[in-house]
Amino acid sequence: MKAQIFYEPEKMEYVTDAPDPQAAQDEVVVNVKACGICGSDVAYYYGMSSLETEDGKGPLILGHEFTGEVVEVGEIPRELGLFQPGDRVVLDPVQYCNACEICKRGYVNLCETKSVLGVSTDGGFAEQCKAKYTAVHKLPENVTYEQGALTEPLACATYALQNMGVFPGDFVVIFGPGPIGLMAVQLVKAAGAGTVLLVGTRDYRLELGRQLGADVICNTADRSSPWYCDDVKAKVEELTQGKMANKALTTTSSLDAMHTALDITGRRAVIVFFGLPGDKDRVEVPVLDSILWDKTIRFSWLAPLTWPSALSALGTGKVNAEPLISGQYKLEELKRGLAEVKDRVGNPIKALVVP
Ligand SMILES: [Zn+2]
Ligand SMILES: [Zn+2]
Repeated sequence: MKAQIFYEPEKMEYVTDAPDPQAAQDEVVVNVKACGICGSDVAYYYGMSSLETEDGKGPLILGHEFTGEVVEVGEIPRELGLFQPGDRVVLDPVQYCNACEICKRGYVNLCETKSVLGVSTDGGFAEQCKAKYTAVHKLPENVTYEQGALTEPLACATYALQNMGVFPGDFVVIFGPGPIGLMAVQLVKAAGAGTVLLVGTRDYRLELGRQLGADVICNTADRSSPWYCDDVKAKVEELTQGKMANKALTTTSSLDAMHTALDITGRRAVIVFFGLPGDKDRVEVPVLDSILWDKTIRFSWLAPLTWPSALSALGTGKVNAEPLISGQYKLEELKRGLAEVKDRVGNPIKALVVP
């Protein structure tokens, strides 16, 4: 099959003779139809983070946000009648074991023996890929392969929403209008939030956020922006008549955003940290204020058991993924795709590889 094989930072080879994956008893093989380029793929390719393989290096096929058409079904899913060749599916890259203690408690995102497609085993930047049948989900009929490629980030956003717990009428602040933030805006609105304030640094993303349901947008970086706001706290104070936000979600790596999230939330607020900072980064918490206002500070990682709900949000139109798809590349153009996402050529939001 054709595949892009990653060896080490900035060394990736496009081949046409990689071995076709074969389904083991508990696996399904798919023809990849669309695979999103994630910020983490860019980080692996440019050496900003290392893979989760044994030695942190390749060779490995990257890509973990993808859909496909089933071509081979292993013995177990075949006997269970779960999948057939031709099925349109999306793959959960987190291949958890369903058997370790933490899996049995339901937190499969934390599985002690998990492997991750495109991160520790071969992923979706190839013609074909295989996955455990328990990680294969059918796409709703009206969801295209391209839209379906956003299910993984959406499932993560869905888990963040679950951790935040939105009540009707809540004032919610979301930091970071990337794909996750833009889907979180839609989820939070669908869950009944009153006002959603979206905070970012680029107008094209913020303006899309407004079209997708954000009531107010703030650009904290660009002084020439009509949405420029250098004091998010004052803005929230004004919009809530001093009560401050009920919920805040950070989907960015920015420590400033995390500190601001602690600052702009009010009594009994819930703050969810989701975007990944550097491993040496630290957040300072105003402990006394947080106690006196009975706040909850929470973290959110991956997407345990939120895939069916994310797929249903796509299928019922509660989340519209289409406007987030900003560009498509052929498999052989992956290097250019990674470079253009890194350098933000053409204002990308979510670029896809379509083999
Ligand atoms: Zn991703
Ligand atoms: Zn496990």
